[in-house]
Amino acid sequence: MKQISTFGSSSYRISDLQLLRNSDDDAAIAKLLANCPVMRLKADEAVTESNRAHLYIVLRGALSVATDTRTGMADGTVSKILPGESIGEQSVLDEEANLSSITALDDSELLVIEADLVWKLIDESNALARNLLRLLSFRIRAANAQLRRRQKLGEFYRQLSMIDGLTGLYNRAWLNDLLPTMVSTAHGSNAPLALIMIDLDHFKRFNDSHGHLAGDQALRTAAQVLSGALRPTDFAVRYGGEEMMVLLPDTSDKVAVAVAERLCERMQQATVFGDMRLPLPHITASFGVATLQPQQNEQDLIAVADAALYRAKEEGRNRVASQ
Ligand code: GH3
Ligand code: MG
Ligand code: MG
Repeated sequence: MKQISTFGSSSYRISDLQLLRNSDDDAAIAKLLANCPVMRLKADEAVTESNRAHLYIVLRGALSVATDTRTGMADGTVSKILPGESIGEQSVLDEEANLSSITALDDSELLVIEADLVWKLIDESNALARNLLRLLSFRIRAANAQLRRRQKLGEFYRQLSMIDGLTGLYNRAWLNDLLPTMVSTAHGSNAPLALIMIDLDHFKRFNDSHGHLAGDQALRTAAQVLSGALRPTDFAVRYGGEEMMVLLPDTSDKVAVAVAERLCERMQQATVFGDMRLPLPHITASFGVATLQPQQNEQDLIAVADAALYRAKEEGRNRVASQ
């Protein structure tokens, strides 16, 4: 026979309450629950908790439960708890007050079960213990899935933070992260590592004549020239302003100079389209090539490439110089 109990304004079958389902002795459970208070909430009203942990069973209405941001699992996840369902199991087990914020979605009635009584119910009813385990396992799986999604999102944003917004090339943060590793890998494996420093020629003049937006467009074109001409193992970086850099692992000085020559050639051939897709004057760039020498660190390598670039400028721009 189904045990009918009266909590608050109406009657409920014990077996309709998720946690108490399939119990052997509904009458015994009903007796234990008989003195539990019923909390009445208006729509939008929040559950105000004492410092003690409680389990709430929704008898009528619905709750919105937002996971707390202090737990670190924070995600602003909101779940809806419907009649027969419960919330607060975990805080009862942890003996911690509820960290979630619980608000009524409609006028609601909640059966409030104190932590001590929950433990008593667990002792008395195998069914309740089983239901509780099932529920917790479900919640843990959901939390894990959420965590995995957050990790993926975190990785996505990390990647995004390594990319220059204007050109789509890697940015300085990426370089600071990766270049030391590339240098130590090259040293460790005795493989060459080449670096080409690139600076657009008379770019201030280009901006002054055609406007900053056209200048931005020219930077994008320059970036496309670089990424379009490189091997999958090479990397192009926007070093800052109109300075870019290309990293060529496993590449000798001779090959790196040839790559720089090719980039220089393609740069002056590239067409920069301005407003209304009208072609703007061509751009050129100067290139400084360096290859990693024993005992050099990443700053030394950059400094040598920079010095070569300076020479390329001195010698007339639109050309390649090497260390
Ligand atoms: P040089 O041939 O000696 O390199 O001459 P330059 O004019 O290119 O050199 P300078 O360093 O004097 O000027 C660099 C210019 O690049 C000035 C700056 O406004 C421009 N620039 C830097 N970053 C950006 C950007 O993101 N967009 C645009 N449009 N211009 C930029
Ligand atoms: Mg410059
Ligand atoms: Mg320049």
